[in-house]
Amino acid sequence: MFDTIIGNKEIKINLEKSIKNGNLSHSYLFLGREGIGKKKIAREFAKSILCLGDKEKEGTECKSCLEFDTDNHPDFSIIQPEGNSLKIDQIRELQTRVSEKPIISAKKVYLIDDSDKMTTEAQNALLKTLEEPPEFVIIILIGSNESAFLTTIRSRCMILHFQPIPDEEIKNFLAKQYQMENISNTWLKTCQGSIGKAIELNGKIEIYQKVEEFVQHIAQANLLELWKKAEFLKEDKDQIGGLLDYMNVLFLSLAKEDYRYTKGIEIIENTKKRLKSNGNYDMSIDNLILQMKEQIR
Ligand SMILES: [Zn+2]
Repeated sequence: MFDTIIGNKEIKINLEKSIKNGNLSHSYLFLGREGIGKKKIAREFAKSILCLGDKEKEGTECKSCLEFDTDNHPDFSIIQPEGNSLKIDQIRELQTRVSEKPIISAKKVYLIDDSDKMTTEAQNALLKTLEEPPEFVIIILIGSNESAFLTTIRSRCMILHFQPIPDEEIKNFLAKQYQMENISNTWLKTCQGSIGKAIELNGKIEIYQKVEEFVQHIAQANLLELWKKAEFLKEDKDQIGGLLDYMNVLFLSLAKEDYRYTKGIEIIENTKKRLKSNGNYDMSIDNLILQMKEQIR
């Protein structure tokens, strides 16, 4: 059931088992950083819970699965923060309908995404449902910040800690799905085990390669050449935060072998400060290039 989702094998096996054995909890809390498959797995899990078919037989889609795939399933709801927080009114709305019997399936599943953004009032309201859920209801909370949850909420849920995806798995996934080859280890590190981030960065790989090329040439190239290599920094104002962060990652790994590169980290930090205090953009970048050339040689 989780064939297309990479990482977190143990969790997937346990969830599969619990469905097979009819051993489901009323409430789950999926914890872990962004982009490592929590929501994908939760959706597949929900689909499987709601499925009417014989779970042993694969490849057959029942009415429930079809409705699920077209986002029309009446027994499945997703609740998300409105604005910056998930408010008590949203939980109250859930509660007005929670005791209504399921329509297609034997169960009803509520998925509360970014549930760590629930206000305290919202959490306290939800607690009532978690304490006495209708027997056919399953609630899945998803969040990245464990400390944002009240202890009383946590103690009511089966907590699953999701792990970052190993670099090697991300690499294989990108090669297979996006035909991406020659992925550098540093680039993988920037993804921090998040497949979501890898996919987001995928479209930008060329510019990240330019960053690599720039950094590799600082010590040998003359100022004019270096200037040319850094032209993209001036063209991509919108992305500068990410590009500087990436430069930092490169410097950090280079500095392990060659202390000169620690200077680069300092220069980046200064540039960030300058940009934050609304320093002139082009001048800040010029300054960065000059400083790099002067201090790393
Ligand atoms: Zn089905």
